[in-house]
Amino acid sequence: MNYNNENLPIAVIGAGPIGLSSAVNLLDAGLTPIIFESGDCAGSNLASWGHVRMFSPWSYNMDPKAVSLLKKQGWDEPELSAFPTGSELLECYVLPLASHEKVAPHLHLNTRVVNVSRQYHDILRNEMRERAPFVVRVSNPEGDRDILVQAVIDASGTYQTPNWLGAHGIPAIGELTASQSITYGVPDILGSCNKQYAGKSVLVIGGGHSAFNALQDLVKLSDQTDGMRVLWGIRGSSVDNIVRSPKNDELQERRSLEVHIQKLLDEGKIEVFTNIAIEKINCENDKLIVKSHSSQLPPVDKIIAATGFRPNLQLLSELRTSIDPATQSPVNLGPLIDPNLHSCGSVPEHGAAELSHPETGLYVVGIKSYGRAPTFLLKTGYKQVKSVTSKLANQVIDDDPVANRSFSCDDVALNRSCSA
Ligand SMILES: Cc1cc2nc3c(=O)[nH]c(=O)nc-3n(C[C@H](O)[C@H](O)[C@H](O)COP(=O)(O)OP(=O)(O)OC[C@H]3O[C@@H](n4cnc5c(N)ncnc54)[C@H](O)[C@@H]3O)c2cc1C
Repeated sequence: MNYNNENLPIAVIGAGPIGLSSAVNLLDAGLTPIIFESGDCAGSNLASWGHVRMFSPWSYNMDPKAVSLLKKQGWDEPELSAFPTGSELLECYVLPLASHEKVAPHLHLNTRVVNVSRQYHDILRNEMRERAPFVVRVSNPEGDRDILVQAVIDASGTYQTPNWLGAHGIPAIGELTASQSITYGVPDILGSCNKQYAGKSVLVIGGGHSAFNALQDLVKLSDQTDGMRVLWGIRGSSVDNIVRSPKNDELQERRSLEVHIQKLLDEGKIEVFTNIAIEKINCENDKLIVKSHSSQLPPVDKIIAATGFRPNLQLLSELRTSIDPATQSPVNLGPLIDPNLHSCGSVPEHGAAELSHPETGLYVVGIKSYGRAPTFLLKTGYKQVKSVTSKLANQVIDDDPVANRSFSCDDVALNRSCSA
């Protein structure tokens, strides 16, 4: 078999902020991306949490290379110190980038990648493996197709694979049966999902900022509607360990959310249940009864699972990946981001070396690269992409921060804050 891969494009899976950044960086390096996006627009995961205000400012949320590309076509740069919502990030940055004349021709919407392999090589076969092109199996309304590419950048995110409520990491008994009354992620409680929650008893599970956002909105809704009850279940023994930022926290968005949650707790607007490890969810008389090892919670109408996300590794299961057994990130990145090891969540910069797999030419970037660790920031993702694309282009970039291995106090502070 003769292989000549150089003229093949590089697949980018996902047109979120990091996938689009990958495409821009590839184009800048003279390489050709082919971007597959399962949604009907770029950034479709962002649209799901569009109502949430981000705690990192615009200056952290955009790729410098993409910004300079956009500026060339007369784009209005947002105020860099302001904090966008997910929708603002989508409308003011992601969509203009996706429709840019240099990017748009490479973007395939409504096209889901269902598998990736290597041509004529299952996972077992060694012979000339590294020279075989990748086969990307895509599915779109016209059917399934196999597309050959020279390398793969997987930036497909984690938002579509949320964690279960079950404390063992698998669904609680009864969780699947109760799924119609459970929302995973951060529903738009004051907007499009308003009717689902008005007048209801709602239990929020989770101890991160997604839970704070849901609780804040539920209390606001309960101020406007009669008969609501807002319950909060956490794993730990006290909320003090969760609503914990120092008073002089420079991250004003995070701090003000935490101060607000503390105020709502002090006012008794949220009922807190600690030491919750969900084992069972029963449906009785149209109510959900959550059973934890230590207690049974009051019956509720709805549950919001703000329990984080996990990567879809099935997509890459025919490739030789090396995955950290705990975080499910690339194995070399795992120790740098493992929340069991880093309580403060500080994450040093990293790049192609940490993101690589035994399968040459495969990189997982963006929030998916963090696996189950909750500390990912867009700013980190843009640096990952810069390193990965320069590796693919075989370039050495003098000012590559990954090579310098330095990281700023700002990065550490922001990483500490990220538990969306
Ligand atoms: C509520 C919330 C708040 C956050 N706040 C911040 C913040 O303040 N600051 C910060 O830096 N980070 C924040 N994050 C974390 C992170 O930056 C975002 O999740 C960001 O969207 C990650 O970008 P991404 O491009 O890696 O993934 P995504 O934005 O999730 O993009 C992945 C894309 O891939 C597509 N896709 C998925 N599977 C496939 C497939 N099989 N084939 C083709 N396409 C596919 C999806 O449709 C999606 O468009 C937040 C996250 C959440 C959930």
